Amino acid sequence: MDTRKLDSTYVAGTYKRFPIEIVEGKGSIVKDPEGRSYIDMGSGIGVTAFGIADDLWQQAIVDQISKVQHMSNLYYTQPCAQLAELLCKRTGMSKVFFSNSGAEANECAIKVGRKYAADRKGNGCYTVITLENSFHGRTLTTLAATGQEHYHELFQPLTPGFVSVPANDIETLRKVAKETNAAAVMIECIQGEGGVLPLDAQFIRDVRSFTEENDIVMIVDEVQTGNGRSGMLYCYQNFGIMPDVVSTAKGLAGGLPLGATLISDKCKDVLGFGDHGSTFGGNPVCCAAALSILKRIDDKLLASVKEKRAYIEKALEGAPGVEEVTGIGLMVGIKTTKPASEVVSKCMENGVLCLTAKDKVRLLPALNIPMEVLGKAIETIKSACV
Ligand SMILES: *Cc1c(COP(=O)(O)O)cnc(C)c1O
Repeated sequence: MDTRKLDSTYVAGTYKRFPIEIVEGKGSIVKDPEGRSYIDMGSGIGVTAFGIADDLWQQAIVDQISKVQHMSNLYYTQPCAQLAELLCKRTGMSKVFFSNSGAEANECAIKVGRKYAADRKGNGCYTVITLENSFHGRTLTTLAATGQEHYHELFQPLTPGFVSVPANDIETLRKVAKETNAAAVMIECIQGEGGVLPLDAQFIRDVRSFTEENDIVMIVDEVQTGNGRSGMLYCYQNFGIMPDVVSTAKGLAGGLPLGATLISDKCKDVLGFGDHGSTFGGNPVCCAAALSILKRIDDKLLASVKEKRAYIEKALEGAPGVEEVTGIGLMVGIKTTKPASEVVSKCMENGVLCLTAKDKVRLLPALNIPMEVLGKAIETIKSACV
């Protein structure tokens, strides 16, 4: 049986896949079994930060996998310790908890928020305020955090203690936080799955001041926006704020599963022995991969992300069939006159793989996509919009 048939017979039917099988690739080019190549403008939903089968990334993994691939968190391993140090040094955070996915990074962030509040303000202080149209993951708790009803319907009851409020409305957030005796507020600086919608900069700063004044834990979900995607290492750095907790995953290890929850000085002692754990979290191979990725997300790379952003905006703005370009850095939303799915299908026919988010075409290319490859992809997208 061919792959597509096998998959639809045996793999749980949770994904509506595009009719393409990918067998190999290099950088921003991937190939199907017939050798047809495509420009990959989705990078596994912002995961393959330096593209497919990148040489330096591979070497870091091979070096580590030939030493030790896993030891459990009962022992010290160097990549885990070094990665935690690098993440803290690059952000000013104090501690890191490692897990395997974005949802798990958020679960940890929520646990930190709740325990911090319970320690200081007692057991009645547990509510987490999130935003409408947010996306925080698929576990029952991160679904509860996700402010989109249609994800909730079939899985009641979800974890209690989550309330979502409209984005960019600080008055309502303040009011609801007070009414519910909130423990934490959790936001994405750019709502990714929600349609590549950046929050207002002022709203982000107001959330920071309000949470600071009321000793409420501010969590920023950087699962999609993090690790260089916005042109800064973490997107919150674009707004001159310092959150209490930051969760990240997707691009962190360049294509191996790794989640991280960064914990600020204020919350650094909240999690103690036995309060949280993960068998695979901090796995030395994933951490070695992440170390190699993080070291390459330097000022030069970040500047090139911003340049590529400027190029994309210049090429697309005012183009026929393009109504709006949203996002920051290489997190790009394109509001098209035609339905986004139609544009994406047309691009696929012409050798370019794009994503959608709500009513938009979404691009999350590799951070190091070569300019000429990017140029070719943007031309194809432009002609698909007409
Ligand atoms: C993808 C995503 C998640 C969930 O990550 P998983 O690794 O799929 O669990 C959480 N939050 C945001 C903002 C995301 O984009």
